[in-house]
Amino acid sequence: MALEQTLSIIKPDAVSKNHVGNIIARFEKAGLRVVASRMQHLSKAQAQSFYAVHSARPFYNDLVSFISSGPVVVLVLEGDNAIAKNRELMGATDPKKAEPGTIRADLAQSIDHNAVHGSDAPETAKTEIAFFFKPEENFGKMRLASSNNSCSKPSCCMH
Ligand code: ATP
Ligand code: MG
Repeated sequence: MALEQTLSIIKPDAVSKNHVGNIIARFEKAGLRVVASRMQHLSKAQAQSFYAVHSARPFYNDLVSFISSGPVVVLVLEGDNAIAKNRELMGATDPKKAEPGTIRADLAQSIDHNAVHGSDAPETAKTEIAFFFKPEENFGKMRLASSNNSCSKPSCCMH
């Protein structure tokens, strides 16, 4: 199994409903480790940039307004097959179609207020992690593989 990192966002609906601990506990119970985290209120410009891939979709403006409507918790999760594992824990985009026991089925109310975001592929995970975190804010084992190849000072990272 491949060790991976993925970006998770606990969205404003889940933060306001006090589900942060519940959601992180699900990640940890499934063997994922939090290796970077921050609570942050995205500006509209940041939200537009993060979700630029959806800019042509009819729900783009609502998506941007929602994700910038209140604080979120951004996390880097690390573990074996972290990208797929996180998507599995999240459940389908529409909570009504999500498997019982998943985060969205249990804690979200609608497709546009669906509690969590998770990267969907290795390339997007890399881009999304870099969107929120500097290499030195990432405390995972994978940090070395992705960002410190050119490091010549053993004292500056965890060689
Ligand atoms: P996310 O990217 O947030 O992890 P996802 O990968 O399951 O969710 P995407 O297709 O990437 O789903 O859509 C991004 C977000 O846009 C969804 O989380 C959802 O909130 C919103 N969205 C997607 N489809 C619709 C839709 N048909 N109507 C309203 N909002 C939608
Ligand atoms: Mg997506």
